[in-house]
Amino acid sequence: MKKNHDLSTRCVHAGEVRDAEGSPHTPIYNTSTFGFRSTAELLDVVEGRRQGNLYTRYGMNPTIRSVEAKLASLENAESALVFASGMAAESALFFAHGRKGIVCLGNAYGGTLALLADQFPLVGIPTYLLLGSEAGRLEEVLKKGPSLVFFETPTNPTIEIFDIREICRISHSYGALVAVDNTFASPVNQQVLSLGADIAVHSATKYLGGHSDLTGGALMGPKELIETIAPWRKNLGQTMAPEVAALLSRSLRTLPIRVERQNKTAQAVAEAMRDHPKITRVLYPGLPDFPQHELARSQMSGFGGMLTLEIDGSAEDATKVIDSLELFIIAPSLGGPESLATQPKTTTHFGLTPEERLKRGITDSMIRFSIGMEAAKDLIEDLHSALKNL
Ligand code: PLP
Repeated sequence: MKKNHDLSTRCVHAGEVRDAEGSPHTPIYNTSTFGFRSTAELLDVVEGRRQGNLYTRYGMNPTIRSVEAKLASLENAESALVFASGMAAESALFFAHGRKGIVCLGNAYGGTLALLADQFPLVGIPTYLLLGSEAGRLEEVLKKGPSLVFFETPTNPTIEIFDIREICRISHSYGALVAVDNTFASPVNQQVLSLGADIAVHSATKYLGGHSDLTGGALMGPKELIETIAPWRKNLGQTMAPEVAALLSRSLRTLPIRVERQNKTAQAVAEAMRDHPKITRVLYPGLPDFPQHELARSQMSGFGGMLTLEIDGSAEDATKVIDSLELFIIAPSLGGPESLATQPKTTTHFGLTPEERLKRGITDSMIRFSIGMEAAKDLIEDLHSALKNL
């Protein structure tokens, strides 16, 4: 496997381990522990003289290592770790690299905001939550000495775009590491490490898993930074199960074709909704009149399958639209083959107070869509007929 192979090729082949039977995929080592022929052999692994398998919770399992090698390759990273969920990945990252303080810039998944606002301060870790409109205050906050800057781009659910290169430049000049949650874009549309980030963060539950049938998380970055996170994962017991790792590997082989199709369909849906009289705003970075379209173009090679519509009406009107959709499933999450619709107010950002949501630009009449694998024309027809009910 060459480093310069195209992403599609690496999705299929990177990390795969052929067994003696010739299986084209890494087998599932569905075992919690591994046996040794002698104590001397066991000590070779325990004391690090030989890379071997030992205990699945430690991540020392061939199926887990295989998917990690594939994931590292997809983000052009030296190393990767997989976790039981995206939140497990984030919390291990925050404990390992954010102990002097964590800055979260802009909107993020509601669970991330809650973890940073409510839990981390309880264990004495300072957190600084800046709104997207307060990005200009980053340097002022960095002077307080936080060790980690974290952000999503595009963000959840308002699809803000942050300038990865510029934020990395500023943060690094204060000695802070930068972790970018690349869940919405996926490595197909955005290569965050090559734009300067230190660590890529993923909820593998979304595009990487891609079939709404697994829960997982991943971190990718330089070996040294990832090795610091590994003991947190091990001792907090956050490792991904081997069956899930195999399912994730299965999904990653088709990641580019899925994401490219979702990019195209989301673009078509966004364009179809742009001039609809019942829609006040279409938040999609691929629209030329999207305020941050040029910035998005400068760091993304595709614009993703996530878009947010603001309905001309109340929260109840948005509910009426959602409830009238036939193809879109009313559900949180994203990245699967079936298109989903959700009101951030009732799901992903339910935990925020109405004031906090408003401050973050998350309005009651917003509907967030994850565009799946259905035909664009069918999704557009479904939206048109649901909007007729207003
Ligand atoms: N990051 C983003 C952008 C998300 O949307 C989510 C979940 O919705 C998470 C992280 C958390 O991932 P998980 O649900 O796999 O823990």
